[in-house]
Amino acid sequence: MPSLKPAVFLDRDGVINRDTGYTHKLDELEILAGVAAGCRQLIAAGFELIIVTNQSGIARGLYNEHDYQQFSTELLRQLNLQKVHFLAVYFCPHHKEGEIASYRQECYCRKPQPGMLLRAASEHPIDLTQSYIIGDRPSDLEAGENAGLKANVLIETGKTITAEGQAKADYVAANFVAATEWILTDFNSR
Ligand SMILES: [Mg+2]
Ligand SMILES: [Zn+2]
Repeated sequence: MPSLKPAVFLDRDGVINRDTGYTHKLDELEILAGVAAGCRQLIAAGFELIIVTNQSGIARGLYNEHDYQQFSTELLRQLNLQKVHFLAVYFCPHHKEGEIASYRQECYCRKPQPGMLLRAASEHPIDLTQSYIIGDRPSDLEAGENAGLKANVLIETGKTITAEGQAKADYVAANFVAATEWILTDFNSR
């Protein structure tokens, strides 16, 4: 049996790239400071990196799956150039009040539901109990909690931090490098 690896799940908008509100245009793609360096540190420490992103803009008819894929491909390309490789990327295109009928549903993948994280663990040798999530919304942290992750980190580079988010977080990080350092310390202090 292959040994299971720890993962760091990353929300996308507000964590990896600047959240401009339903971000999908290539000219709005701005990778945040410290992300590439932090990701390389996590990879060096043995973590797999997995993106889990709610993309209800698809259900809302603001952009389509092709637009999403194009943006995602470019984001991955830019990070690959900086020696950052992701094990997988999962996105949820749904919303229960979406404009587009085929995406209008209450699904199990939209965070705070844990569907994307559980799917990652079913498709890859990941130990959820030794894994982390970095997100900028309470729903990211709840998804981590619902999936049984080791700890949930709230980051201040995206949405404004709320009391609800703060209460759900195991740690609140000012930026990606701070989040990375906390995770490495927590992981090594088992
Ligand atoms: Mg976000
Ligand atoms: Zn979904």
